Amino acid sequence: MNGIYLLLGSNIEDRLKSLNTAVDMLQASGALVQNHSAIYETAPWGKLDQNWFLNVGLQVKTSMEPHDLLRACQQVEQKMGRERNLKWGPRIIDIDILYYENQIIDSDSLIVPHPGIPDRKFTLILLNDLAPDALHPTLKLSQSELLKYCEDQSECLLTKYQLDIDLA
Ligand code: AMP
Repeated sequence: MNGIYLLLGSNIEDRLKSLNTAVDMLQASGALVQNHSAIYETAPWGKLDQNWFLNVGLQVKTSMEPHDLLRACQQVEQKMGRERNLKWGPRIIDIDILYYENQIIDSDSLIVPHPGIPDRKFTLILLNDLAPDALHPTLKLSQSELLKYCEDQSECLLTKYQLDIDLA
């Protein structure tokens, strides 16, 4: 896997505005967006009785090490008023680190590659937009292969929403 990939999601209030705000704040903290996927509207995962999400995948460039990048992501979540109470519950913004180059990290606070990648169709659709041929560092399958083998049936709809962003 070349590059650092983030997943952003929002399912309450003005979802597109929240994605844009999070992108601005990530850039201000030193994670510069080089590329992004389309924005998709996705059925909630895990806890089904809540609004659909808007999701976008980002490829970022940063000098931050993985745990510093995680802290930067969590600060954005906190500043945007995310309440950490319900697992898989509604959220104004959720930011996950999907891949950090080919690094394999398994610490108390950070697991990379994100363990949900192979099971979540929407995540693989975003990654397939960004880097279809890049290999998952442990599974040794490309994002397009992972998508092909993924059995998740959850809906994931392409939208016409656009991020308000100039790429780095
Ligand atoms: P969530 O509620 O889904 O945002 O999960 C947040 C928790 O997952 C935090 O405690 C993080 O420390 C932990 N975590 C582990 N691996 C990752 C990752 N790759 N990206 C984001 N959060 C992670």
